[in-house]
Amino acid sequence: MSDKKDDQVAIQRFVEYIQVKTVQPEPDYDGALKFLKNYAQELGLEYRVITLDESRHVAVLTWPSSSVEKTILLNSHIDVVPVFEENWIVPPFSGEILDGKIYGRGTQDMKCVGIQYLEAIRRLKAENYVPKRTIHCLFVPDEEIGGVRGMKKFVTLSEFKELNIGFALDEGLASEDDVYQVYHGDRAVNWIQFVVKGNTGHGSRLIENTAAEKAQFILNEMLKYRADEKERLEKSQTTDKPLQLGNITTVNLTKIAGGVQQNVVPDQYSLWFDCRIRPNGYDSFKQFLQDVVRRVPKQNDNEAELIFIQDSGPAAITDVESPSWWLQIFRQTCEEMKCKTNWTIFPAATDGRYLRDCGYPVIGFSPIINTPVLLHDHNEYLHQDVFLRGIEIYVKLIANLTSQ
Ligand SMILES: [Zn+2]
Repeated sequence: MSDKKDDQVAIQRFVEYIQVKTVQPEPDYDGALKFLKNYAQELGLEYRVITLDESRHVAVLTWPSSSVEKTILLNSHIDVVPVFEENWIVPPFSGEILDGKIYGRGTQDMKCVGIQYLEAIRRLKAENYVPKRTIHCLFVPDEEIGGVRGMKKFVTLSEFKELNIGFALDEGLASEDDVYQVYHGDRAVNWIQFVVKGNTGHGSRLIENTAAEKAQFILNEMLKYRADEKERLEKSQTTDKPLQLGNITTVNLTKIAGGVQQNVVPDQYSLWFDCRIRPNGYDSFKQFLQDVVRRVPKQNDNEAELIFIQDSGPAAITDVESPSWWLQIFRQTCEEMKCKTNWTIFPAATDGRYLRDCGYPVIGFSPIINTPVLLHDHNEYLHQDVFLRGIEIYVKLIANLTSQ
C-alpha cells in the first residue's frame, strides 16, 4: 500500500513534468530528457537516450531483470498539443491544483501515464519486488504530429529490436463514467484530396461540364457514405451488439478550395476529406474511393483525380478473440482491481499502431474515469485521486505482467 508521502512525491513529479514545455511545434525535448534522466537516477533505473535524428531522441528507462524472457514496454509520448492560453483558468504549464484537480496541458494526454508508470515502479521497488521480466519505460517525441520522426522511426532501429519486447502498453482516452476504456486497435487513416477540373467562362452563361458538377457528385457520394455509417452506428444502439465510434468508418469534409472571382466559373475545385477507417474495412473503403473518382461524370479522365495525402495502410489489430497470455493477464488484473472495462477500437491514431504493425500485442490504456474528455481542449485536468488510483492499477499490472 502507498502512504501519503508517496502520493505527494508522485503529484510533485507530475507537476514538474507538466512544467516542462514540451508543446508542439517547438517542444522543449532537452528539458524533458534532463527531467527523465534525474528521475531515472532517483528510482535507480538504467537510463539511455537513443538518437532518431539531430533533434529527436527517445529516452528508455529500464528496470532490468536477469531473465532473457520477453520484456514489457510501457510507452508514453513526451510532446503535447498547443494551447490557447487566454481560454485557460490557470497558466497551462503551471500544474496548478484547484479543488484537487491538477490542471495543465498533458494532464490527460499523456504525461499522467508516463509518471504513473514510473511511480508504480517506485512503489514496487520500495516493496523489494523483483521482476522476472525486464521493464522498459519508453518516452517518445512527436506523437502529436504523427510520430514520423518518433515511434515510426524508432521501430526501424536495431536498438528497438534489442529491447526484446513481448507486449506494450500505450495511451488510451479518458472515460466520463466509471468504465475504463481499453483499446486493442486504432482505425486506419486516409487523408485525401479530390481535384476536379472543368470548363470555365463567364458566370452569366450556362457552361457544360463544369468543375462544380463534379465536386457536387463527389460531395454527394462521400456524404452519403457518412450518413450510411452514422445510421449503422445509431441503429446498432438498440441491438445486443451496439457499435462504437471505432467500429465504423467516418468521413468528414475538412476543406474546399476553388474559384478566382465572383463572375468567373472556376476551372478547378479541390475537396479534402479526413477519413478514419474501421478495422477490416480498409480494402473495401479504398475500393469505394477509387469507384467514386471513376464514376465522376466527365469528358476526360484527367478531370477527376484522387490524391492520398496520408495513407496509413490497413491497421493491425491486437487479437482479443483468442487473447495472448499478456491480454489474459491484463484482463485478470482489471478484474482483481475491480475495474469495469470497455474493450474497443481507438477512434483516432496513436503510436501504438507502429508497434502493432511490427506484430506486437498492444493495449491502449489511460486509467482515467469519471473525468471529462479534455485532451487537446482548454483547461485539461486530471483529479489527483484519479491520478493516484491509476498508479495503484499500474503497480498491480506491472507486477502481474512480470511475475512469471
Ligand atoms: Zn496522446
